[in-house]
Amino acid sequence: MHRALLRHTLILAVVSIASSVSAFWTENDNNTNNQPQQWSSYFQQRQAGACGTGEPSPALRDAHKRLSSTEYRQVVVGDGDSSSNASSRPPVDSLPRIQVDTWFHVVSTSDQADLVTNAMIADQFVYLQQAYANTSIHYTLRGVDRSINDTWARNGDALAMKRTLRRGSYSALNIYFQTNLEMSDPSGVNSRNAMNHNRNAVTKFPRDQEPHYSSSSASSSAPNLLGFCTLPNPQINSSSTLDDYISDGCNILAATMPGGSITHYNRGGTAVHEVGHWHGLLHTFQDETCAPGDEGDYIPDTPQQSTPTDGCPAPGTKDSCPDLPGLDAISNFMDYSSDDCYQNFTYDQAMRMRSMWSAMREGK
Ligand SMILES: [Zn+2]
Repeated sequence: MHRALLRHTLILAVVSIASSVSAFWTENDNNTNNQPQQWSSYFQQRQAGACGTGEPSPALRDAHKRLSSTEYRQVVVGDGDSSSNASSRPPVDSLPRIQVDTWFHVVSTSDQADLVTNAMIADQFVYLQQAYANTSIHYTLRGVDRSINDTWARNGDALAMKRTLRRGSYSALNIYFQTNLEMSDPSGVNSRNAMNHNRNAVTKFPRDQEPHYSSSSASSSAPNLLGFCTLPNPQINSSSTLDDYISDGCNILAATMPGGSITHYNRGGTAVHEVGHWHGLLHTFQDETCAPGDEGDYIPDTPQQSTPTDGCPAPGTKDSCPDLPGLDAISNFMDYSSDDCYQNFTYDQAMRMRSMWSAMREGK
């Protein structure tokens, strides 16, 4: 996506939706319900991974392998050609549009109630829409609500928050933009320890290579998490109940929204990256190895990559697996590059998100 074109498109689109966003507003004020907690697998998932999104389950890895072996055959079968010939692949934007019902939930502390402006919300939605344009995945913003709740804003009592705010079925995307997002423990108690535990889990990265954390917290000197999402759960089926997937969705540090305070990470790229996880994508550096035979992110057209990208290196200068084909995909939304570096999903990532949608979320 060309940056200048994107910016131009954003300006036009913001103007067109800014007035309509306000129609979605609803208000929540310190709603806390004491609900049963069903955290186990969700919390364990969140304990790994520098952006906060968990490692893929064996079942999700199996799904990637299965979809990788079938998705191209599906799209070329109409041509009478059962091979995986790249030249016969249709442009993704010619495929039927996938429409995702989307809810934005803005959750603020009382002293940061004005941090997230209506313009930031509108800009974030436009950027999300634009980033996925070449995947033919379209988001329909069904609602925006605001909550003032000091506990929820740092993701404390997270289950109660989601029970109160979550909308739609398993196929609906719920994004919680929180002013003080942290990893929180299952009991909803402020979990500095839990967050530190998570950071310890990723100490294989030098601190300055953890761009999905920031040290520029608005309220404390502690580093903040920038975001995390739930990956698709292959166990969810059409008879699953809300209790089975209440945790599903994305939690994003509000300061990463366009116009937010985190330099180089304030164009909305964190939400785009995390929603990629919601659609099932893994990091381009998944497994962090150049080892022959490692399947990495299970995406054929993303080069093998052994380290996350820090910031935005000059094009052509980063190749963490020099003996394997391709340079690191530093402009890919599923790397850890800064927002100014983010530009695109690959063709195969787009196809995988579409086949994941059909397998994991559509109709559920
Ligand atoms: Zn991630």
